[in-house]
Amino acid sequence: MYDVIVVGGGISGSMAAIASSRAGAKTLLIERYGFLGGMLTAAGVGPMMTFHVGQKQVIQGIPGELIDRLQAKGKSPGHVVDTIGYTYTVTPFDAEGLKYELESMLLESGGELLYHTHLVDVKVEEGRIQEILVLNRGGLQNLRAKVFIDATGNADLSTLAGVPCVKGRPEDGAMQPMTMNMKMTHVDIEAIRRYIKECPEEFPYLEGNTDIIDESSVLSVSGFAKTLEKGLETGELTFKIEGILFFETNNPGEVIVNTTRMYGYDPTDPWSFSKAEIEGRRQAMELEKFFRKRVKGFENAVLVYTGPEVGVRSSRQIQGEYVLTIEDITKSKKFADVIAHGGYPVDIHSPDGEEEVITETMHLSKNAMYSVPYHSLVNSHVTNIITVGRCISATFEAQGAIRVTPMAGAIGHAGGVAAALAAKQEGNVLRISIPTLQQILKEQGAYLEVE
Ligand SMILES: Cc1cc2nc3c(=O)[nH]c(=O)nc-3n(C[C@H](O)[C@H](O)[C@H](O)COP(=O)(O)OP(=O)(O)OC[C@H]3O[C@@H](n4cnc5c(N)ncnc54)[C@H](O)[C@@H]3O)c2cc1C
Repeated sequence: MYDVIVVGGGISGSMAAIASSRAGAKTLLIERYGFLGGMLTAAGVGPMMTFHVGQKQVIQGIPGELIDRLQAKGKSPGHVVDTIGYTYTVTPFDAEGLKYELESMLLESGGELLYHTHLVDVKVEEGRIQEILVLNRGGLQNLRAKVFIDATGNADLSTLAGVPCVKGRPEDGAMQPMTMNMKMTHVDIEAIRRYIKECPEEFPYLEGNTDIIDESSVLSVSGFAKTLEKGLETGELTFKIEGILFFETNNPGEVIVNTTRMYGYDPTDPWSFSKAEIEGRRQAMELEKFFRKRVKGFENAVLVYTGPEVGVRSSRQIQGEYVLTIEDITKSKKFADVIAHGGYPVDIHSPDGEEEVITETMHLSKNAMYSVPYHSLVNSHVTNIITVGRCISATFEAQGAIRVTPMAGAIGHAGGVAAALAAKQEGNVLRISIPTLQQILKEQGAYLEVE
């Protein structure tokens, strides 16, 4: 019998398990792959963005410590200026370094790890999860804990336990497009830097401020507008593309290309999800050919990795005790039960490929900091589950802001401490002391502005 079982070892689940274990709970993390990191390692997502609001680092605690450790080992340059100018800072990292560091932090905390293990079913009695059924090479097994954390990204555990969830836009349920990220090596970064200066019209997003690229040793690029237009005109590119977007990693000549777009698929429907994988791979092959032929700096580039799973931006959101709204984000609403802060803007990739999805009412003012309340992680149907990461209780629009890695990590950190606290009492996550939760979070290094 465990105090806390965390299902899913993405950034949120890893942070939750480390925090829970550090807070004194006997903790097990189960993960279906043989490594941690979720989207960041399985889907090649990066860089992390953003830990900052202006100059202030508002995401600290265990996620902050992770970056310090990566940086000390040369696996991340730390927080650097975003050369696209979209947000304050970005945090590149090496994916293999991340896998190792997350695993080390969890094991050092005393937490246990069970890899290659899928959640299959849940036994709920009187509003409490009694046990979960998992499948691995040892067959089917039951695992018991006082408190469970759902860190599956898609709210799989919450759904199986009967927690109500919603998907996508309220009007039609459409979700953000999926993306098969492509890791490409042998990219001539210096040639791209020169090209940005020589052809600023290719990079309208910078509005002529091409000097911003000198402010960081690591390049983030959104543009090649004319190159893209030509590719679409000639038929070399056959799918809707918002723009060519890529990010240099911590490794020389390596970039993450975030440019494929799979519209209209549902990641919670296995048949639809499989079709998205197939379409993603087709687009990736098409892009590799196009990049090598047409995109400056990619003449000798090689596509080396697309990962075991296509990237999912949004799917299910639990309907928790509190649903975080776009007004809470844009008006910087303060919550008595605040557990994390963020400054990343609302970033919604249109579900149907239309350009404008961010309306005036969704804009954040500069240096605006918003808050996430604990009651968006818990629900009134099942009393011993905490949901963390990108599938917490938030509207489609609010999720567009809080869905990114540093925030998912900070939410995971808080969920882990809360679960450990609940496990010490009667296991009811709705009855923990919020001031105690906030106090322990602060002791574990989290940045919190509590009223
Ligand atoms: C294409 C794309 C680009 C992005 N770009 C950025 C970016 O540039 N910067 C940024 O900061 N964020 C970015 N994000 C967002 C960010 O990567 C994620 O939102 C964040 O990683 C979510 O973390 P999570 O822990 O909630 O979920 P996930 O990372 O999805 O982790 C879920 C984990 O649970 C495991 N799991 C799932 N189901 C089961 C099950 N049934 N049994 C056992 N294990 C299970 C999975 O294997 C996985 O390890 C991007 C996302 C996508 C898809």
